Amino acid sequence: MISKSIAMVLLCLSVLAAGAQTAATPPAARPVYEVFAIRYASIPDFPVNALVAGADAQRKLSIAMTIWLIRGNGRNILVDSGFYRPQFFKQFKVEGFLKPSDAVAQSGITPALAPEDITDVVITHMHWDHADGMDLFPRARIWLQKDEYTYYTGEAWQQPRTHGGIGPDDVLAVVKLNLAGRVSLVNGDAQEILPGITCYIGGKHTFQSQFVGVNTKAGTVVLASDNMYLYENLEKHAPIAQTLDAASNLRAQDRMKQLAAAPRLIVPGHDPAVFEKFPKVSERTVRIE
Ligand SMILES: [Zn+2]
Repeated sequence: MISKSIAMVLLCLSVLAAGAQTAATPPAARPVYEVFAIRYASIPDFPVNALVAGADAQRKLSIAMTIWLIRGNGRNILVDSGFYRPQFFKQFKVEGFLKPSDAVAQSGITPALAPEDITDVVITHMHWDHADGMDLFPRARIWLQKDEYTYYTGEAWQQPRTHGGIGPDDVLAVVKLNLAGRVSLVNGDAQEILPGITCYIGGKHTFQSQFVGVNTKAGTVVLASDNMYLYENLEKHAPIAQTLDAASNLRAQDRMKQLAAAPRLIVPGHDPAVFEKFPKVSERTVRIE
C-alpha cells in the first residue's frame, strides 16, 4: 500500500527545450488530424496542491484520467494508454472506470475502434496512469523517449526514491514490447515521429517526459499530458507540483504557448474542465478543436 503523498508523486509531468530540430515535413505536405480527449476514469478528492505548486492545501478536485486519440492519415494514434492492472485500484479511489481499450471502443467516435485498430501509442511518460495500458493494443507501435526507456528499465531501480509512480509490471511490459520489436525510441526534442505528429521534451515530470504537437484544421494542438496538469498551471504560470525541475517545467509551459496555434489548444493532463470546454462527442469524449 502506498501512502497518499507518495501516491501523488506517482501522477505525472516533464520539460525542457533545446536540442536539434529534425527535418520536419513541409507544412503543405502535413496531414491534418482530428484530436479527441477520452475520459476513462476519475480520481475524486485529489489535492490541488499535488498538481499546482503553492496551491491551497484544502482544495480538492475530482481529476480526469484521460487518454487522447489522434485520427487521420490512415492512423489511429493514442497519446497515453491509461491504467487497468488491479493493484492500482487498491492504491487509489477510482470512479467511473472503463478499461482504456473499452473507453476507446465506447467513446462515440465513429466508426468504433477495436483495440487492434490502434496503430500507435505515444507514451508521454512511464507513470502508471499513462503507461500501464500500453499492452492493451495488440497491433500498436509504442513511441517513448529513449532516455525515459533507458532510465526506468535500469538505473532508476538502483535507488529507493528514483522510480516513484513507475509500476514494475509496466517496466516488464515495455521491455516485452521492445523484445517483440514494437517499441520505437524517440531520440530527443522536436522529433516528428509521423508526418504532422511531433514529440517535444517536457519539463522533467519524470526523467525524460514528452508532450505532443499535432497538426489539425485549427493549427497545432499541444497535448501537454502532465507537463501541465491543470489549466491553472498555465494561467498562474505555476509549475506542476511534481517535477524534478520546476524551472524546466515553466520553460516547457512557455514553449507550449509558442507551439500551439492558440492557448485554448494546449490540453492539460488531468483537468476535468477539458470536458466542458470542448464539444461533446459522448459523455466521456470531447473533440479538441
Ligand atoms: Zn498523470
